[in-house]
Amino acid sequence: MVEIARREFQSGKTTDIKFRKANLRGLLHFYQENETELADAVYADLGRIPDETIVAEISLLLRDVKTMLANVEHWSQQKTVGRSLATLLDWPYVRPQPRGLVLILSAWNYPLQLSLLPLSGAIAAGCCAVLKPSELAPATAALLADRLPRYLESSCYPVVCGGVPESQRLLQLRFDHVFFTGSTAVGRLVAAAASQHLTPVTLELGGKSPVYLDDSVNMEYAARRILWGKTVNLGQTCIAPDYLLCTKATEEAFLEAGRRVLHQWFGERPEDSPSLGRMLNKRHFSRVRKLLENSGRVALGGRCFEEALIIEPTVLTDVRAEDPVMEEEIFGPVLPIITVSSADDAIRFINSRTPHALSLYIFSSRRDVKDRFIRETDSGTVMCNDTMYHAIVEQLPFGGVGTSGMGAYHGKHSFDTFSHYKPVLERNYNPVAELCCSVRYPPYEPTKTRL
Ligand code: NAD
Repeated sequence: MVEIARREFQSGKTTDIKFRKANLRGLLHFYQENETELADAVYADLGRIPDETIVAEISLLLRDVKTMLANVEHWSQQKTVGRSLATLLDWPYVRPQPRGLVLILSAWNYPLQLSLLPLSGAIAAGCCAVLKPSELAPATAALLADRLPRYLESSCYPVVCGGVPESQRLLQLRFDHVFFTGSTAVGRLVAAAASQHLTPVTLELGGKSPVYLDDSVNMEYAARRILWGKTVNLGQTCIAPDYLLCTKATEEAFLEAGRRVLHQWFGERPEDSPSLGRMLNKRHFSRVRKLLENSGRVALGGRCFEEALIIEPTVLTDVRAEDPVMEEEIFGPVLPIITVSSADDAIRFINSRTPHALSLYIFSSRRDVKDRFIRETDSGTVMCNDTMYHAIVEQLPFGGVGTSGMGAYHGKHSFDTFSHYKPVLERNYNPVAELCCSVRYPPYEPTKTRL
């Protein structure tokens, strides 16, 4: 598959704008004609209700591919850059060139968008791409492998199903770019493997995304927006708010509003609510339950239903920085609160944590507070007064920093990720240009070289 895809790229056909558009249209039809099957496959894999998949994944994919179709021609054009005195008679320009054959390795938690957003970027940029969806979302992977070839030129965009051995085998081969979404630990392995061929990588990794909350907010809205980020996909989202930093007084107001919000959304028995997802498998369920049981005090929720793989949306108070829940990305519906005395204290706390945050959430109406957090902390992205919504604004690049990733994508940024912006300087045989150039020719003389 990889060899065939490489030959297809070398034939030059994927660079043709008509070809790119035909395959982007294929992707659009794939989404339109398979919406129910796609949402059902995700339900089979993750237990996430189809409506949530339509909102959180399919609508995003539809918008993305329409943006690609509307802009691919314009984005692919070479752009003339400014001239200086030395290049007055020349033609300097930058030409976006497809990177070549791309490998896309994706994660299970949003199994559609994490595979298909990079794929649409690769198609738009004129690349060939080998897609390896996550083995932990097998129904979705099988559906992609079965259906995508009916809508796309399959020799250019093959889908490989499999797990760790297949990923490792793929990583031994030479690609022109590797786009990886997954954990920081595996990201390191991917980067090391890619370095054998000096292949550039985009790494979309995990991390703990802090939330700072102060008393200048509308607490009802803030509680809703924070808890939505924590409960959608049952907290199994890379940019889910991971932990909350606030003063004791703000904590009380948050808990009061949060109790109301969770009751409105999921009722007395969240385990029976069709709107609540479930943990991926027993391993993830037990890991999060253990974090919950060994850290702080349960202030809201806290019940775990092993058979159904459901953990009730939970807020923990009296959490210490050394507690297990603060040591790894939680990736579940548990929100620990760390008490701080001020914004300064919160900034110090964030900066004392070694792994870099993927996102940072600031809930405050104070301009100076927002500015300080944005300026004085490190994170891939920032959102003020809401959670996760920034990831669907396709004008904004999406990606991590340090241990939460490198590179970015979404919208035009996906096109850029899979393009090499090739600088070209064209010069002609104009005698005036030759005269200007002649200072560099030997023999070197001070009158020429000091000009
Ligand atoms: P993972 O790292 O276990 O797996 C991701 C991919 O890597 C899969 O396709 C898998 O087959 C492959 N893989 C796993 N182990 C491998 C190995 N040893 N060698 C080569 N390939 C290997 O991640 P996951 O459990 O699927 O996803 C959860 C993680 O992904 C979380 O940390 C989450 O934060 C992160 N994530 C990040 C983003 C983002 O956009 N930054 C999005 C979603 C998930």
